[in-house]
Amino acid sequence: GQQPSSLRRYAYARNAMGSEFNLVFYAPSDSLAKVASDSAFARIQLLNNLLSDYLDGSEVNRLSETAGTGQRFYASAILFDILEKSKHLSGKTNGAFDVTVGPIVQLWRRAIRRNYFPDKSQLKEARAAVGYRLVQLRSEDRSVVLKRKKMRIDFGAIGKGYAADDVLKVLKSFGIDRAFLDAGGDLTIGDAPPEKDGWRIEVSSGGGDTTATHVLTLKNCGVATSGSTYRHFDYKGVRYSHIVSPYTGVGLTTHTRTTVIAPTGTDADALATAFSVLGIEKGKKVAKRLKGIEVWLLEQNASKKAHYK
Ligand code: ADP
Ligand code: MG
Ligand code: MG
Repeated sequence: GQQPSSLRRYAYARNAMGSEFNLVFYAPSDSLAKVASDSAFARIQLLNNLLSDYLDGSEVNRLSETAGTGQRFYASAILFDILEKSKHLSGKTNGAFDVTVGPIVQLWRRAIRRNYFPDKSQLKEARAAVGYRLVQLRSEDRSVVLKRKKMRIDFGAIGKGYAADDVLKVLKSFGIDRAFLDAGGDLTIGDAPPEKDGWRIEVSSGGGDTTATHVLTLKNCGVATSGSTYRHFDYKGVRYSHIVSPYTGVGLTTHTRTTVIAPTGTDADALATAFSVLGIEKGKKVAKRLKGIEVWLLEQNASKKAHYK
C-alpha cells in the first residue's frame, strides 16, 4: 500500500438510490481522489440503472416482466451476481429476507398513496406471487426464469449494501484501500485510516430517553442498521414499517432496531432486514447458524396490534 504519511483524507456526499451516500477515503493526491470518486459515483449510477425497481426499463424490471411466461432472461453479470447472493441470503434467513417480495411492496406503496388498507384477498394474491425458490438461476449462461405470474424482484433490502461493496472494489482498482462508504445506513468499510486501528462507527440503541450511543472501531466489513422508524405508514393509529413480512404480507408493526456486522455490506444489509422480520427470538436462532456474522443490539418496541380488515 501507500505510505500513510503521504495520504490525505477526502470526503464526498451525494444523493443516490433515494439516500445520501457518504464516501470517505485516503488518497495520495487530489487528482487521484477526483477520478476515483467520480468513478465510484458513476458506478452507483450504473447499478441503480440496472437494479432499481423504480425505473421503467431497468434491467431488473425487464426481468420481472417475464414472470410466469416461461421465458428465459439472459442477465448481465451484475444482475446475475446480486440475484445469486440474494437467493442465498433468502435461504439462510428462512425467507425473512426475500428478494421476490416485490408484489407485496407494490401493494403497500399503492395503498399508502391512496390511503387504504389492502384487503385479505389482495394480500393473498400478492403473497402467492412471492417466493425466492421460484427464481431459477442457471449459471452456465447466466439465465433466469421467474416461475410464477406477477412475480417481481425487489432489491430494496440489499441494493445499497451491494452498491457500497462495489464502490470499495472500484476504489481498490485505483489503489485506494483505506475507504468507507455509508449508503444511507448501509456501510461498507475497507482498510483502516492511516495510523488507526479502524473506522469509528457510531451505533445507537434504544429510543427516547433510553437512547445510548456505542462507538465501534471496525475495518474490512459491512455494517447495516435496520428498523429505523422514519419510513413507515400510519393507519388507524398503527405504524407499519416499509419492511414487510413475506409470511403475512403486512408491514412490520413490531419495530426492531437491528445492527448487523458481517463480512460484506451485501450480507449486512440483507441480514439486518431479515432480523427485523424475524424479531429477537427467531433472529437469534438464525444468527447462530451464520458464520462471521455479529448481530448487535436487538431492541424491540411493539406498537399496538396490527389492524386487519
Ligand atoms: P433501508 O431502506 O432503510 O436500508 P432495508 O434494507 O430493510 O431498509 O430495505 C427496505 C426495502 O426492502 C423496502 O423498501 C422494500 O423495497 C424491500 N423489502 C421490504 N421488506 C422486505 C423483505 N422482507 N425482504 C426483502 N426486501 C424487503
Ligand atoms: Mg436491508
Ligand atoms: Mg438497506
